Amino acid sequence: MKKQFFNSKKEQDIINVICNWSEQFFSQEVCGFVGVKNDIYTAILCHNKSRSPKNTFTIDPVDYLFFVEEYEPIFIFHSHVVGDEKFSKEDIIMSENSCLPFIVYSLNTKKLNFHQPKKTRIPIESVNKFKK
Ligand SMILES: [Zn+2]
Repeated sequence: MKKQFFNSKKEQDIINVICNWSEQFFSQEVCGFVGVKNDIYTAILCHNKSRSPKNTFTIDPVDYLFFVEEYEPIFIFHSHVVGDEKFSKEDIIMSENSCLPFIVYSLNTKKLNFHQPKKTRIPIESVNKFKK
């Protein structure tokens, strides 16, 4: 899938686009970033490089570098095609290792879930705004 960008000042719009992308590309886990620049949020949908994209996701490190150079990071998002909105062990490890909060959207339950890593520069308030 092609890299896509979505901009908005509203947290709810960002959450909506994550859900919409997840539903649109339902055959695989979608993944990407949300950051902010000049008070405008940007959601970036990245290519899922995983060999089993229905069950896991892998983001290209180059996409990550582009993202952190351009935007103040807030969180990484992905979708779950299989199962519910519970994070996998791998999700938690990735969130802890990247020091970035994670948001997941489950296609089955239509629910979101949030994970805040123990070590992060991102204030919890920035993420909490997306919980509405
Ligand atoms: Zn996951």
